[in-house]
Amino acid sequence: MQNYQCNIAVVAAGPSGLAAAVTAAENGMDVVILEKSSVTGGAANMGMGPFGVESRIQKANMIAIRKEDVFREMMEYTHWQTDARKLREYIWKSGSTIDWLEDMGVEFAGPCKYFPSAYPTWHAVKPEGGGAPGPRCAGTMNKVLTNRATQLGAKLLLNTKAVSLIKEDGRIRGVRALDTQTGEEVEVRSDAVIVATGGFGDNPEMIDRYAGCTYGKDMFNIRIPGVTGDGMRMVWEAGGRKGRITMEKIIWSRIPHNPMETSFRQPCALMVNSLGDRVMDESVVENASVSANIISRQPGARLYSIIDSRLVNYYRKKGVDYPSGIGIGNDLTHFEEEFESLMAEYPDCVWEAQTPEELARKIGIDEDTFCETMEEYNLCCEEHVDDIFCKSYHYLRPLTGKLYAMEFCPGAYGSLGGIQVNYKFQVQDEEYRPIPGLYASGTDTCDIYGDTYLFVFPGNTMGYAVNSGRLAAEHAVEYIEDLAEE
Ligand SMILES: Cc1cc2nc3c(=O)[nH]c(=O)nc-3n(C[C@H](O)[C@H](O)[C@H](O)COP(=O)(O)OP(=O)(O)OC[C@H]3O[C@@H](n4cnc5c(N)ncnc54)[C@H](O)[C@@H]3O)c2cc1C
Repeated sequence: MQNYQCNIAVVAAGPSGLAAAVTAAENGMDVVILEKSSVTGGAANMGMGPFGVESRIQKANMIAIRKEDVFREMMEYTHWQTDARKLREYIWKSGSTIDWLEDMGVEFAGPCKYFPSAYPTWHAVKPEGGGAPGPRCAGTMNKVLTNRATQLGAKLLLNTKAVSLIKEDGRIRGVRALDTQTGEEVEVRSDAVIVATGGFGDNPEMIDRYAGCTYGKDMFNIRIPGVTGDGMRMVWEAGGRKGRITMEKIIWSRIPHNPMETSFRQPCALMVNSLGDRVMDESVVENASVSANIISRQPGARLYSIIDSRLVNYYRKKGVDYPSGIGIGNDLTHFEEEFESLMAEYPDCVWEAQTPEELARKIGIDEDTFCETMEEYNLCCEEHVDDIFCKSYHYLRPLTGKLYAMEFCPGAYGSLGGIQVNYKFQVQDEEYRPIPGLYASGTDTCDIYGDTYLFVFPGNTMGYAVNSGRLAAEHAVEYIEDLAEE
């Protein structure tokens, strides 16, 4: 048995746990971090950066988005179905957290957006070796946080899977865990515990049970290994209340690392379901989570995006209307060759055809309805008026050349929410009373978007992760200081 004693035990070293650990250590606390994986950073090693509003770097770039405007818009967006005080604490902290990370050595590229009509709240991290930010660049931020935590004296236990919470006299007094390399039991005794295990994206059974969708059927989320809902289970077993749970849905092509998605996620595409019906104003496709909602309600949860050779040529010359938020697939120079290879590798996900009839047959969608849809859509384009879904005339281009199609289905970055916390990130029991000594942060508690992740303020889940981690630690420190005075 390995034994440790500390003020604050932090369960997991994703961005939320790391931010919590650094904050606690900066406040003079002894900290032990338990991380199941052999590396720190969690899902954020795949991402680009956190949300922030009123950061120094935004001011330097003359971006005048105000905290109160973001707060009002998010509350309106969720129909006030979220904890307003918790959301307020997060938004108000977010600019200072970007500055705090910068002071620690994290470098950010200018604040960016995910799509044209979004706000520049996304603070993409500059990659370690220089160059433009891209997927995985937030890994650098996690390294800086990890180094800062250990330099401040935090003890980092890798390959250590937290198993249960120690509760004595109604208070949380530590964590039991397992060293997954040696098989030894680990016990960390502490005054407080902060749980931040990143949800259950890697647990199809929990997805089915709590998120109302089925992995591999109508949900194709990214599975970060080890993110299996452990924190939620531990907290619920210790009397914590279940919070609202959703998936952080995004539109997805089922083809891993598919740069060609960009060509098909354009406002000039035509989008139909398996019945051959057009279902949306295609310009909405810029918003990945709203698009996923549209797909989820189609038969079989599938949508087909159709473009043609004339549109490909137009985009080649003029550039795509919606450049990819992660900077890939924007160049259509070699579209035809790349599409050929994709078809060879994924014949069930992409198709080409000379006529609408041939395309419908190849995809397996209703041929007659699809041909009628094409006729109707092309007429809208010729008349420059979409009287059906009101798509702007800017995006009405008839599809009369060689046709290309890509299938889309609902994906997700992972789950959202599950542990009910108050605005001090104290875990609440069934009667909404805080459980003394128990805090939770990050994805495990992230229920602030209502039913749909809001991409208009990008960087929001990683932003919530680091900010809620900081806030949870600050409140845990207060709790411990109060304990000392008792
Ligand atoms: C491809 C991709 C790109 C993304 N890009 C962005 C982006 O650019 N901006 C943005 O805002 N969001 C982005 N996200 C989402 C963002 O990464 C997450 O919101 C964020 O990482 C959540 O942080 P967290 O600390 O709560 O959880 P996680 O990062 O998921 O970390 C959880 C940690 O808990 C550990 N763990 C699990 N169980 C245990 C246990 N029993 N004991 C100990 N440790 C345990 C895991 O190993 C993991 O390290 C992206 C996600 C993905 C998948």
